[in-house]
Amino acid sequence: GSTIGIIGGGQLGRMLAMAAARLGYRTVVLEPQSDCPAAQVANRQIIAAYDDAYGLAELARESDVITYEFENVPVASTAVLSADAPVFPPAKALEVSQDRVVEKSFLNGIGISTADYRPVDNDRQLIDALKAFSGAGILKTRRMGYDGKGQRAFRDVGGDDVSGTFAAMGAVPLVLEAFVSFRREISVIAARGRDGSMAAYDPAENIHRAGILHTSTVPASLPAATARAARDAAFTILKALDYVGVIGVEFFALKDGSLLVNEIAPRVHNSGHWTEAACGISQFEQHIRAIAGLPLGATVRHSDCVMENLIGNDIGRAEALLAEPNLVLHLYGKVEARVGRKMGHFTRLKKRTAPRATKATGT
Ligand code: ATP
Ligand code: MG
Ligand code: MG
Repeated sequence: GSTIGIIGGGQLGRMLAMAAARLGYRTVVLEPQSDCPAAQVANRQIIAAYDDAYGLAELARESDVITYEFENVPVASTAVLSADAPVFPPAKALEVSQDRVVEKSFLNGIGISTADYRPVDNDRQLIDALKAFSGAGILKTRRMGYDGKGQRAFRDVGGDDVSGTFAAMGAVPLVLEAFVSFRREISVIAARGRDGSMAAYDPAENIHRAGILHTSTVPASLPAATARAARDAAFTILKALDYVGVIGVEFFALKDGSLLVNEIAPRVHNSGHWTEAACGISQFEQHIRAIAGLPLGATVRHSDCVMENLIGNDIGRAEALLAEPNLVLHLYGKVEARVGRKMGHFTRLKKRTAPRATKATGT
């Protein structure tokens, strides 16, 4: 096939469209917002809601294979599309990643540890769950949260001063996660092809500011065994989901070297943006390769690096950054620099990396 359909027109859709174009594919983006970042790059935009039957029919008609750039695509939409064109990653990956409780129970079920958690549907359950976690936890909406939105942290709360929290959080299903005193946060960007082959980039070490990813540093400072365990966990998840495409797996690395998975994202991931600058094959190209049935690319890195996000007014730094050598700047073409909005990112290339013999692939 030669046309790739993409649901969602944000920066991730834009960068997927760029990678697809480089491999000779046409792209069609389904996105209700007409001046979206992906529209500047894709061959065509279908301006319709993600659950609009006419928009979906048009996308299916025009596409040989369909993918998405965000995990909150309605599962019913992908079911409709699947009748006419393959949709990757598979629906199961959406179902699991759309609900934090389903996600954790899936992960625990395949032998992958997460933070301890309790579903919370009223203040009473919150009080009980906080007691179980000695008063420290992070309360999150089960669905739709991103960039730390829909979260509230509790440190050493005595039982009763939480009344009204359930209503204040929107009276939607919540989950309390035990507070994890992690040593580092890391993520693995991995991929699985249509033929079941798998590949992973080296883990990145991630720093968040105000709930939003700030920097990703590669290599992460981790014991080699922990880096291998993170990659193996990503491969276990890919196989269990019969996955096709790129996945982002976020981990908490603990003091003793063990890992907990925080969450998974069935798509290209912000903490993998460095791959466009420090690897021959970016996560975006890797995703296009995977869903198009092409062979996966090598995940070797030619340089160590640090990726940093440009949020809101940070966009004003672009001109100064352009003057730096060995810095790869990437802007998303968003006109309005709202607070907390991801406007672009850049990757500073550090020292060159010797080619490594470490096995980063599997089946
Ligand atoms: P994203 O934009 O990555 O999808 P999100 O809104 O889904 O973010 P999480 O990844 O769940 O949010 O949490 C954001 C950050 O908050 C984490 O990267 C971590 O720094 C911190 N955090 C989340 N859960 C916990 C926890 N249980 N214990 C300690 N810190 C946590
Ligand atoms: Mg998330
Ligand atoms: Mg996260």
